[in-house]
Amino acid sequence: MKFADAEQSYEEARYIIFGIPYEDVEMSFRAGTKEAPSIIRYVSWDYESYCMFHDIDLQEIPIHDAGDMEPERAAEFVKKCIDDKKIPIAIGGAHSISPYLTSLLSNDVGIVILDAHMDFRTEYLGDATSHACAARRIFEKVGKERIISIGIRSASKEEIKDARELDFKYYTVSEFNKNMADEIPFKKIYLSLDMDVFDPCYAPGVSNPEPMGLGYEVFDFIEKIADRIIAMDVVEVCPPYDDGRAALLAAKVIRDFIAWREQ
Ligand code: MN
Ligand code: MN
Repeated sequence: MKFADAEQSYEEARYIIFGIPYEDVEMSFRAGTKEAPSIIRYVSWDYESYCMFHDIDLQEIPIHDAGDMEPERAAEFVKKCIDDKKIPIAIGGAHSISPYLTSLLSNDVGIVILDAHMDFRTEYLGDATSHACAARRIFEKVGKERIISIGIRSASKEEIKDARELDFKYYTVSEFNKNMADEIPFKKIYLSLDMDVFDPCYAPGVSNPEPMGLGYEVFDFIEKIADRIIAMDVVEVCPPYDDGRAALLAAKVIRDFIAWREQ
């Protein structure tokens, strides 16, 4: 099943949606996020193609669904989409896919991560590619000037210490407000949306739910940076533990993002 209204060919499309049904061998709490791409596609059909608040009909916007792929192949694919002046939108999968997806970005792209967790461990259970290390791996690749994490409310003592020492820029959930979008210095943004940045009452079915989270103000924030986003991923929805809310919210973020860009 394709993502709703993603009926165009790659050549015609401005937006390229694709799935990465990948998760760590050892997820730190709940397994099953590899099922998310197909479920998010399925629930995307819940919505009208017409977005009434944007006056945009997504059936009239050229969107392509490129199917599923391995994270290793996705790095090249993201680069190709950007080179072809298209906006790639990856549906995970665990957050461990984001270091792959961002690995071939040019130097003028900054990475904005929305996440409850710092994901700044050097390794987790001996695994340096774990989803609990996603921000750390990206940080090591791009350097401190090109990455910001927002919405943080969970980290180990070691992660906080490392973040201070290495000058990893992050905002806690209590520092969040939608206007901080104006403080993000990047002209081009890769957005990595870990769905657990939302409170579990909005998105219960995620791999590592963390209470005291954010609500629909996340949408306001993304709307404010939408014009600068050149690629994004939406990760960590965990269908076996979801009642549909997390998957529906993930599909809606993707649809609203396209509508904001097209307004
Ligand atoms: Mn994460
Ligand atoms: Mn997280």
